Amino acid sequence: MLRIHNSLAREKQAFTPIEPGKVRMYVCGLTVYDYFHIGNARTLTVFDMVYRWLQTAGYEVRYVRNITDVDDKIIERANRNGEPIEQLTTRMVAAMHEDCDRLLMLRPDAEPRATQHIGDMQSMIGTLIGKGKAYAADNGDVYYAVREFPGYGKLSGKSIDDLRAGERVAVNTAKRDPLDFVLWKAAKPHEPHWTSPWGNGRPGWNIECSAMCAAEHGETLDIHGGGWDLQFPHHEGEIAQSEGASGKPFVHYWMHAAFLNMDNEKMSKSLGNVFTTREVLNKLDPVQGGETVRFFLLRGHYRSEINYTWDILQDARGALVSLYTALRDIPPVAVTIDWNEPYAARFRAAMDDDFNTPMAFAVLFELRNEINRTRSSELSGLLRALGGTLGFLQTDPASFVHGGAADDAEAAEIDALILARANAKKARDFAEADRLRDEIKARGIILEDGANGTTWRRS
Ligand code: AMP
Ligand code: ZN
Repeated sequence: MLRIHNSLAREKQAFTPIEPGKVRMYVCGLTVYDYFHIGNARTLTVFDMVYRWLQTAGYEVRYVRNITDVDDKIIERANRNGEPIEQLTTRMVAAMHEDCDRLLMLRPDAEPRATQHIGDMQSMIGTLIGKGKAYAADNGDVYYAVREFPGYGKLSGKSIDDLRAGERVAVNTAKRDPLDFVLWKAAKPHEPHWTSPWGNGRPGWNIECSAMCAAEHGETLDIHGGGWDLQFPHHEGEIAQSEGASGKPFVHYWMHAAFLNMDNEKMSKSLGNVFTTREVLNKLDPVQGGETVRFFLLRGHYRSEINYTWDILQDARGALVSLYTALRDIPPVAVTIDWNEPYAARFRAAMDDDFNTPMAFAVLFELRNEINRTRSSELSGLLRALGGTLGFLQTDPASFVHGGAADDAEAAEIDALILARANAKKARDFAEADRLRDEIKARGIILEDGANGTTWRRS
């Protein structure tokens, strides 16, 4: 029996879908103005893992992940680049697919784009106005009146009064209450806009997801996911809109993936501590890189924060190589997984317990040890099949172990120089440490000394 930690209930619950055997799942996807970073990759990969496991557990899953293709950041970036918005978003969607493919993600069943659902958003806004839950302000914006939705705050566990106490003095006088959020923004000059009953404008971010959930799945869904930061205000807003409009429960199970951090701070564009997924992949061996990053991203439990460092990536690579080495040395036979087999049963129990990937991987490493000891090609086949349920171990083992790239050889050389510099420092040979630093710099590499050692990137 699958159990899922439901953010709304703040506990693990047995999973019962609305329709037996079927799952309606929606995940907040990317805002496509740039390459996505490795923190975004974590959330995307976590839900790819969930999607795969639900299918292994026998469900027919419809996985919808939206694309936000109109927003302030996109408009600003397109203007800065001097290119039309659609050109920028089309390019970034193609790049997103490339990077997701490299991380071995399955494509969602649908990837609706905000600009394709403006009509649905407008009709939901119309319904909310009709029910007295939204109002058109004098400035041409339309706002959601949070006081008219009694459940506001139930996901984040905040009451309207708590939220209000934390609110700074209202700057926007068009709102009736400072917590009211925008559903429709009046058009500013030189910005993309659509005609509407409330004047020219464009949608607010929250209404996008409510409208696309309804269009793709109907009024109630089984699972809605996203990163931890989206719980409030984005998902709280979605609940208010969707339940306010339909009068029915919106989502049965809310799932949130914890952050990927860099030196124990959230990786985000606004903090400037960002590595894009493609720059990380490009530093790694082309054969091993994608699966290595995927393994690193899923090695921690999805509700625990994880830290990104080059050393941790290298450790993930080494662990995968050890699994592939077992597969190379003891050629697997094709097996259909027998879930009563002890390893398989433990793997399944771990995954069924709120997608406990660290426990599931621990089973794979035990299995590897037994394969190395017994040289059983049946168990080797089982290892490959179990890994396959989460998108791992499907490459030719010899090719994986060998790897394929000059890039990685260079990475190893840089690691060796970094180690030599650390040793020079330890020996208080600062002249040598500085010389090594300059040598590394001359190769176009920037060193970053942090709490978890030294990481590097190309300048
Ligand atoms: P954005 O494009 O910023 O809206 O983010 C897309 C998705 O990535 C959302 O689900 C975010 O919650 C998630 N996300 C952003 N930064 C991180 C991070 N550092 N770690 C994990 N997930 C993140
Ligand atoms: Zn969303």
